[in-house]
Order: sequence, then structure tokens, then C-alpha cells
Amino acid sequence: MENKTAKQLEKELLYTAKPAVDKESGLFTKAERFCEGYKAFLDAGKTEREAAALSVNMLEEAGYKPFEAGRRYQAGEKVYYNNRGKCVLAATVGRAPLEAGIHMNMAHIDSPRLDLKQLPLYEEGGLALFKTHYYGGLRKYQWTAVPLALHGVLYKAGGERVDFCVGEKESDPVFCVTDLLPHLSADQNNRTLKGGIKGEELNIVVGSLPIEDEDAKQRVKLFTMRLLNEQYGLVEKDFIRAEIEAVPAYKAKDVGFDRSMIGAYGQDDLVEAYPALVAEIEVQNPWFTTLCVLTDKEEIGSDGVTGLQSDYVFHFIQQLCQCQNADYVLTLMASKCLSSDVTNAFDPTFPDVSDKRNSAYAGKGVCLTKYTGGGGKSSTNDASAELVAYFADLLDEAGVAWQTGELGKVDQGGGGTVAKFVARRNVDTIDLGVPVLSMHAPFELVAKVDVYMAYKAFAAFAGAER
Ligand code: MN
Ligand code: MN
Repeated sequence: MENKTAKQLEKELLYTAKPAVDKESGLFTKAERFCEGYKAFLDAGKTEREAAALSVNMLEEAGYKPFEAGRRYQAGEKVYYNNRGKCVLAATVGRAPLEAGIHMNMAHIDSPRLDLKQLPLYEEGGLALFKTHYYGGLRKYQWTAVPLALHGVLYKAGGERVDFCVGEKESDPVFCVTDLLPHLSADQNNRTLKGGIKGEELNIVVGSLPIEDEDAKQRVKLFTMRLLNEQYGLVEKDFIRAEIEAVPAYKAKDVGFDRSMIGAYGQDDLVEAYPALVAEIEVQNPWFTTLCVLTDKEEIGSDGVTGLQSDYVFHFIQQLCQCQNADYVLTLMASKCLSSDVTNAFDPTFPDVSDKRNSAYAGKGVCLTKYTGGGGKSSTNDASAELVAYFADLLDEAGVAWQTGELGKVDQGGGGTVAKFVARRNVDTIDLGVPVLSMHAPFELVAKVDVYMAYKAFAAFAGAER
């Protein structure tokens, strides 16, 4: 040690995460290529139902078969399970017995948005509008004056299903929430940022023409309802049987002169869901059985039958254990799970919310997050050092550019992922994901190299032999 220069010592002893592009030459080109598929997935999978359907298509094209309970599976066989059209499970049977553990990778396909209320349509001030109830932790002021598309499904009396999507095609109209003009915002300007736009002010403009007959009481509402009836056969009561979501109407775009980033809606969490799905599809004849889970309801706490607090994933694992004559408890105890979700990227415009020494940075690779939560590590899974060590070695050996980081400064806020709902089942779980700028905004930003590194990390885990 004594004979070494300070420069040598710095190199050998100290650690700072480096830009991912330093990892290998030509990396950015590979990342760009991978991200073309990702952008197409973002554009076609803006809601959990659409992302689930898209995933099922990709799985079927890759030769996956619907899972059949009670059937014995051979190593290398690929199966999937579609939970209520909102979640997808895909598995490749490993060469090792299930009791050796399953390599699980769980991402979510729901994103913050505005859901229509049960009776959304009304008329006021010569306009037809939809009432909404926001879904997930969004900053309400960001959702005004942004073009919105409406996606969803309705069931008419008798059960006929009507799929609904307006605002995505170039020729489609779009919708929007209005905001005040600066000239008249004196009172609104005194509100806090959080309350700048209130939940009941997130009303979507959907029309302004009145029905010709001047005798009608609500002529504009009636005009819109007549249009919906002509085009979709709907009556107002049918909205009660609907799930319609308002999401930003624009497509994913490259960002920056260097095109190094992607700006889009829904990257939390399609930025993990897509790489996780691709890694699952590509794995052939793995040692451990792999299980990729694309779940719903993460943004509202994983509640509900399609969220990870539901038993649906674990019922699948139980049934798979029955198929393979494996012990369910031993299988869970030996398993490892990646909770694949985004983290915050350090934002130079708002440096004060992060501990810059323990923050993830856009462009420095995928982020391995030991704990999330907030207020003294409350409500976090807090992965063990053993598990962190396992993944650190795995990622290093696979040449993955990765970093660590925590969700902001201590006591600044915090957040959670599905990790604790998997860990609760006695499965070692850790968070891994892409750093995002403007998380939960209608236009979220990620670095392409980080998306590619997420894919490389997931592929390494799916194909791991230990
Ligand atoms: Mn997320
Ligand atoms: Mn989120």
C-alpha cells in the first residue's frame, strides 16, 4: 500500500458509479435499438388492460401456452396466465426442481391517470364535461392543459363488451382539463402547489355543441350522449359498468439533441415491464424456473384482486408446485424476487430533495435499491445484505452498469413498491429499476442506456445458475 500513488489508491479503494456508456463501446447503439421496441410498447400499452393484451400477444408469438393446472411440465416449457385481462404471469420451467427456488421478476403495468367517475357526463356553462377521480399519486396541477385520450371498456346491459379508445389516432379528437388564465388566477395563486388544482377540478372537456331541439334541458350533454349512442350504442347508465381512463394523448419521443433519453407517459412502470417481459421470453432452458409478473394496482397500494396483495401470483405458484410435485413452502423459501420498479433520478434543478451521495442518476445504469419506504424505513422490505451481495455479484459478472440509490433525503417523503408484498410470503425480495425524472408526471423522462441495463440485469437473473 505504501508505495502506491494516491491515484492508484483512489482507483482501488473508492467508489463512484460511472456513466453506463463507459461500460462497453457501442453500448448506446444497442440501447437505442432496444428502446425502439420499448417505445412501441409504451404507445400501445398505456393502460393495464392494453399492456396485458400486448404482453399476451408477445408471449403467444414466442410459443408460450396457457397454463394448465394439473399437468406435468418438462424443463424448458413456457406457459402464461392472464389474470382478468389486467395482469400477466409468464414462466419458463427450469431444469432444477422448483424447491431450488424460482427466479421471480415483478413489474407493474398500471400508471397514474384520471379515471372517469361512475356517472361522469354533465353539462355546465355550455360545455359537456366528464367528472374524474384520479388514480395513483399524481400532482394534479400537471394534468391540466394537456391533450388526453380516453381508453377503456364498457359492458352494455346483457353483457356486450365495448372497447373504447379515442384520442390516439392522428385523426382522433382529444380531450383536456382546463386551467385558469394567468389574468384571473389571483386567488388560485395563493393556494399551495399541492392544492393548486383540486381533485374535483380535474374535469375533462368533451364537447360544446347543443342538440338542435331547443326544448331539451341539457342540450350539450344530450348532444354528446347522442353521439356516444350513435357510435357505441351507449346510454348514460352504461357508464356505471365501465372502466374508462384518461391518459396523455401523445406518443413516446426521443429527448435531447443526442436522443439519449425517452420522454413518455407511463414509464413507471413499463420501463421495467417491457424489459422484464423480453428477458423472460428470451430465456431458454434456464436452471431455475423463471416467473415474470406484470401486475396491476401498484400505484394505489397493490390492493384489489389484480394487485400483489391478492393471492393470484401465489395461487399460480401453488398450482405449479402441484404440477411438478414440489413443496410450496420450500419453493418460496428458496426463491428470489426482483421487485422491478422505477426510482427517482437526481434532478439538478431540485437537488435539495436528494442525498446526492446516495441518489441514483439518469444514465448511470439500473439502480439496486435496498430499501424504499419513508420516515425511518417504515413500510419497506429492506432487503438483506446477503441478497444485495447476490445481486451485486450477478450484475457485475454480467457486465451490467448499475448503481445504488435511495428515494430522496431522509424524511423528505418516500414511497413503496410491491417488494414488501412478496417478502411477506417468505421470498427474498429486492428493488431494481430505472431512475426516472418527473416520475408520475404526464411526461416522464428516462435514459435509454438505463432501460437497456434493466433488460441486461433481468436477462442475467433469468438465466442465472446460482
Ligand atoms: Mn412504479
Ligand atoms: Mn409509481
